[in-house]
Order: sequence, then C-alpha cells, then structure tokens
Amino acid sequence: MKFNTKTIHGGQEHDKAYGAVMPPIYQTSTYAQSTPGGHKGYEYSRTHNPTRAALERSIASLENGNHGLAFGSGLAAIDAVIKLLKPGDEVISTNDLYGGSYRLFTKIYADFGVKFHFIGMENAHKIEDFVNDQTKLIWVETPTNPMMNIIDIKAAAAIAQKHNVLLAVDNTFATPYLQQPLDLGADIVMHSATKYLGGHSDVVMGLLAVKDHELAERLYFIQNASGAICGPQDSFLMLRGIKTLHVRMQRHCENGRKVATFLNDHPKIEKVYWPGFESHPNHDIAKAQMKDFGGMISFVTKGNNYEEAIKIVENMKVFTLAESLGGVESLSGHPASMTHASIPKEEREKTGVVDSLIRLSVGIEDADDLIEDLKQAIG
Ligand SMILES: *Cc1c(COP(=O)(O)O)cnc(C)c1O
Repeated sequence: MKFNTKTIHGGQEHDKAYGAVMPPIYQTSTYAQSTPGGHKGYEYSRTHNPTRAALERSIASLENGNHGLAFGSGLAAIDAVIKLLKPGDEVISTNDLYGGSYRLFTKIYADFGVKFHFIGMENAHKIEDFVNDQTKLIWVETPTNPMMNIIDIKAAAAIAQKHNVLLAVDNTFATPYLQQPLDLGADIVMHSATKYLGGHSDVVMGLLAVKDHELAERLYFIQNASGAICGPQDSFLMLRGIKTLHVRMQRHCENGRKVATFLNDHPKIEKVYWPGFESHPNHDIAKAQMKDFGGMISFVTKGNNYEEAIKIVENMKVFTLAESLGGVESLSGHPASMTHASIPKEEREKTGVVDSLIRLSVGIEDADDLIEDLKQAIG
C-alpha cells in the first residue's frame, strides 16, 4: 500500500458490529466478561481500547513499523521512552532540542541518575565521541526547532547499531509523509501528534512507532504500568486528522517554499533557515532523507532588533502569534521571548536563537495571502 492510501486505510478495518466506516468512539473504561477472564480482547481501557488500538495501528502503518503506541501528549510518549533506562545510563541528545524535552531530561530524569549529553549533531559522526559503556540511547530531532538543522539519521543509526545503543527520532517536524526514520535504521520514532499528525490544533497527543517486537513489549508494559494514555475521543480526532495528512503536507511544503523564497529575497531579512535552500549546510542530507522540506521556517531581520521582531509578529494578521505548529492555520512565534525565554540570552544565542529570530509554521491558506501578510508586517 502506498503512503497516501495508508493515511486513510493503514491498519483500519470497518466496524464489525454495524459496518461503520469510521472507528466508533468506544467511550468506556471497562468491558463485560462472561466468566473471569472471558472477554473479547479488552479488559480495561488503560491497557487497551479499540479506538486507541485503531490509531496505534495507523501510526505503525504510516511509519513502516510493526507496533504503535498512543499517549496523552508528546512529552508523555518521550517519558515512556526514557523509562526504558536505569540510573547510571547515559543518553546522547541533540542540543537544539524541543524545550519541553530538554526540561524533562534535565529537570526530572537527571535527578533519577540518568546522564544526558547535549551535542551539535549536524556532523553526525561526532555522536560516536560521546558513546561509552553506559550509553543506552541516542535522541535525535530533525529538522530541529527552531534552527532547522538537519541530522543524518542513517549515519546516527550506523553508530547506534555499531555500539548496540537505541536510536530514537523525534519526527514531529517532518511527519512520516516527509521522512520515515525506522526505514533509515532508527529503533523508535516519536511524534508530538499535537502538531502535523492531528493537524487542526485541537488535540494534544503523543505517538510512538517501533519495528522490534521485544522493544514494543517493553514500551507497552510502560504505557500500561505508568498509564499516560490518551482517551478514545482524542484517538478518534487524531485518526480523522491523519486521513488528510498527505494532502495537508503537500500544501504545507508548497506554501513553505513560496514563503521561504519571498523572505529570502526581502531586503530587510538577514537570513532564512529552511532546509530546502541549497545554501543550507545539510541540504544534501535533507534531500536524501526527506521527500520535501516542510512548512517550518525561521528567519532573522537585518540589525537583529528585539523590538522590531516583536512588532512584526504583532503586525501579522493571517499568521496568528501562538505556541505550537503544524496546524492548517499559519502561526508565528518569537522564540527569544516565548519558547526559549527561560534560557539565558548568552546560551540561546550560541545555538542561533537571537533576539530577532521569528519562527513560522506555514499553514495551508492561499500562499498569496500569507506573503501579503508578511509584506505588510515586515514593512
Ligand atoms: C510539541 C513538541 C513536543 C512535545 O509534544 P506535546 O504534545 O506538546 O507534549 C516534542 N517535540 C517536538 C519537536 C515538539 O514540537
């Protein structure tokens, strides 16, 4: 089955009771048993729920995995992955990392004795310098947020396999439409499904997909034992969102290209971060591991003026100033005062998060309206 068919049919079957085309929302916590243990595969909804199971089959299918797992948020999904570790274990992670992941790693799991190394992975071979006997997990995010760095998943997977270490990829920005990390050698793929997979800014959810059966069993155990699952209503909404992922992503990419090109030609713009430009340092890797370049773009204005950047995001009318990304509507963000405000100026500037950096999540509106909006906002 091709990807565009899988978004609609992957792992799905028509409802056995009445033939409903969409999976029913099984809004139930428990299931009748005819005799103790005599059930139809479902006993309690933390462990299993038929609506959630339909979604879990869907993400497994989209990522070319054998197993999918759904959680109450992206961070709950990451939390489940880190629970595979024990005190003393070490993790090598991307340094330009989603802020919530960084907080989870440093403010919670570091206290449980897990050690994290945050390194620049634009040259993936550098990862190997940090591998030792305690290393159990490599955590990669690509493209990164908000600098749009690209990390070579295949090269990271080769290092992980050589040293018998797990490789997990946060695939939130790319989605399986653009990039399929399990096929490139990753062991675990993670999504904040809140973003592109849901696509309508109406659900918070996390998803994992894996190929390996034994690893899946360990993660299912954690999912049930820790209990950070999502409900059937949200599972239904996520499945509904996923059905249009391929059409939405195609338009996100088209609009992203137009907006990035417009910004790149604008006299007031200093630099545009978008992996589709040939001048992007890892453009060739992006081209090799991604089908297209997505709708996430960051840019800085000439003179790098904080107040000017704030004015620009305030002036936008079609773009909404908001946290999050990946919805049908275009959003803007100012990392220095929003997502990265808690990081000291000196620290954030080291990774490129300067005062005038603006991040765009380009939606699927008419590109002409988006460009007009940027024109009037930038002035
Ligand atoms: C939003 C996000 C997360 C966290 O997901 P939530 O659903 O907000 O918990 C993790 N990684 C990336 C790249 C994200 O954008």
